[in-house]
Amino acid sequence: MSDLQELYQEVILDHNRHPRNFHRLAGADRIANGDNPLCGDQISLYLKLSGNKLEDVSFEGTGCAISIASASLMTEAIRNKTCDEAKLLLEQFRKLVMGEEVAIANNLGKLAVFAGVSEFPVRVKCATLAWHTLNAALENRIAAPVTTE
Ligand code: ZN
Repeated sequence: MSDLQELYQEVILDHNRHPRNFHRLAGADRIANGDNPLCGDQISLYLKLSGNKLEDVSFEGTGCAISIASASLMTEAIRNKTCDEAKLLLEQFRKLVMGEEVAIANNLGKLAVFAGVSEFPVRVKCATLAWHTLNAALENRIAAPVTTE
């Protein structure tokens, strides 16, 4: 195993052992649940919005190291981003784990540790679970303030 792979392994194991932002979020505007039955990964994602900005993000869940670490790193990456920025990051992350060309990999920061996942197709769903859940939370308007049209 190369030093780089070991480093990546370290980051994923660390976030699995000590997930960041791992709690229910009081006053969340959006809540979405994600499920990956292939592996048994389940997460709940909480978003607190301030206008178009993700003021706070947290999650809870159970699953394999890849799914939990991915959710943990995602919450760190998207906090204080706008919804549009989060969606852009989502698209870049999806490409990364699918093994597609990501010219902007540097923008992904620590999320780049998941590049190796593309070699394990069965793990791709684990790595993207939190992001699919994020997409659902961003699209979900159920918990948003009621507006008259
Ligand atoms: Zn998994």
